[in-house]
Amino acid sequence: MIFSVMTLFPDMIRQALSESIIGRAVKDEVISLRCFDIRDYSTDKHRRVDDYPFGGGGGMVMRCQPIYDCYQDLVEKTGVKPHTVYLSPRGTVLTQKKAKELSALPHLAILCGHYEGVDQRILDEIIDEEISIGDYVLTGGELPACVLIDCITRMLPGVLAAESAYENESHYNGLLEHPQYTQPRCWREREVPAVLTEGNHRLIEKWKREESLRITAKMRPDLLRRPVPDGKRLRFPAKEDQEQLLTMMQAFYQTPGVLHDIPPAHIQATLDRIYGGAPDINAYLIQFERKTAGYCLLSHAYSNEAGGLTVWIEEVYILPDFRGHKLADKALREIFRLYGSSAKRYRMEITPDNLSARSIYARLGFKDLDYRQMIRE
Ligand code: SAM
Repeated sequence: MIFSVMTLFPDMIRQALSESIIGRAVKDEVISLRCFDIRDYSTDKHRRVDDYPFGGGGGMVMRCQPIYDCYQDLVEKTGVKPHTVYLSPRGTVLTQKKAKELSALPHLAILCGHYEGVDQRILDEIIDEEISIGDYVLTGGELPACVLIDCITRMLPGVLAAESAYENESHYNGLLEHPQYTQPRCWREREVPAVLTEGNHRLIEKWKREESLRITAKMRPDLLRRPVPDGKRLRFPAKEDQEQLLTMMQAFYQTPGVLHDIPPAHIQATLDRIYGGAPDINAYLIQFERKTAGYCLLSHAYSNEAGGLTVWIEEVYILPDFRGHKLADKALREIFRLYGSSAKRYRMEITPDNLSARSIYARLGFKDLDYRQMIRE
C-alpha cells in the first residue's frame, strides 16, 4: 500500500515510522512511504506557505497554492487521484473500523495541517474526508498522520506475526481485550489466573471472552451499546445495503401496524446516524439463508426507572418473501442474547388491536406497561 503524505515536516513522519514493526514494513516494502514537502512547492520568493486569516483572529493559515501544486505533483508522479484525507480535529474520529476500511485502498494521500489549519478552499478542492485522532488539538497533523499510518499498516498482510493477529485485539470485535500475563507465574505475591496455566483451551477461551466483557463493561460501557452480531442471523448494514435498508424502512411505514407515515428526510437522517456510528441508535439486518430478510432498528436511552440501559425496539420488518419463518421472533431473541446484561429493559410501541404482534411479544416476555404515552413535537 502506498502512503503519500503532504506535510511541512517530512522528517517527523519518516523518523517516527522508521522503527520497530512499521519500520520493518517500510524496509520490506509492504508499504511505500512517500513524503511531499509542501514548502518545496511555494511560489513565494521566501518559500512562505501561510498567511494571515481573512476576518482577523490569531495565528496563520496555510495557503492553497503550495498545497495544490504539491497535490498535483503527487497525482502526476503516481498516475492516479488517490483517496485523500485531511487530518483535522473537526474530522470523524478514527476507529478500528475506519482504519480497516482504509487498509483496502491501494494508495492513500494524507494532508497534514499546521498553525491554525488550512484554507477551506483547498479542502473543498482535493479532500475526500477529514479524520481526527481524538477530541483534542495538536500543533500539527504529522503525529496524527503517523497514528493513522501505523494503525492501517499493522492490519496489512505480513506485517504482524500470525500469533499476534490484530483480530484478537481491543476494538476489532467491538470489545476490549482480556488482561495478558507472562512469566513468572507469581510476582510480588500476585498469581497468574490458574485457568491460564492449566492447558484447557476451551476454559481458556471462555475466560478470555468473559474477562473481555467484564473489562469492556467497566472501562468502556458505551462500547457494549452496539453489540457485534455474529453475521449469521444478524449483521451490521454495510455501505452497499443502504438502498435496500431505505426501501425496507419505507415499506415498514406502510404496514398496518404503523399509525403515521414519516417524511423521507427522517429516514435519510436515520440512515446518516446509523452509518455515522451514532451511539444512540443501532440497526441490524436480519439474515435468512445468507440473504437479507428484513431489518431491526433499535435506539438507546438511560432509564432511572429501569436502572440502566433501555433499548427501544423502534422497527422490526420482515420482507414479504421471508414471512412465515418466525424471523422477527428469532431476531429479537438474538438481540436479547447479544445485549445480555448490559440492557436492563426493552421497550416498544404497539397498537392495542395488533393482536398477532401482541401475542408474539408476550411469548418473548413483554408485558403491558400501565402508562399512556404523551409526546410534544
Ligand atoms: N484551528 C484548528 C481548529 O480549531 O480546529 C486547529 C488547528 S491545529 C492547531 C493544526 C493542525 O493540526 C490541523 O490543521 C490538523 O492537521 C492537526 N490536528 C490537530 N489536532 C488534531 C486531531 N485531534 N486530529 C487530527 N489532526 C489534528
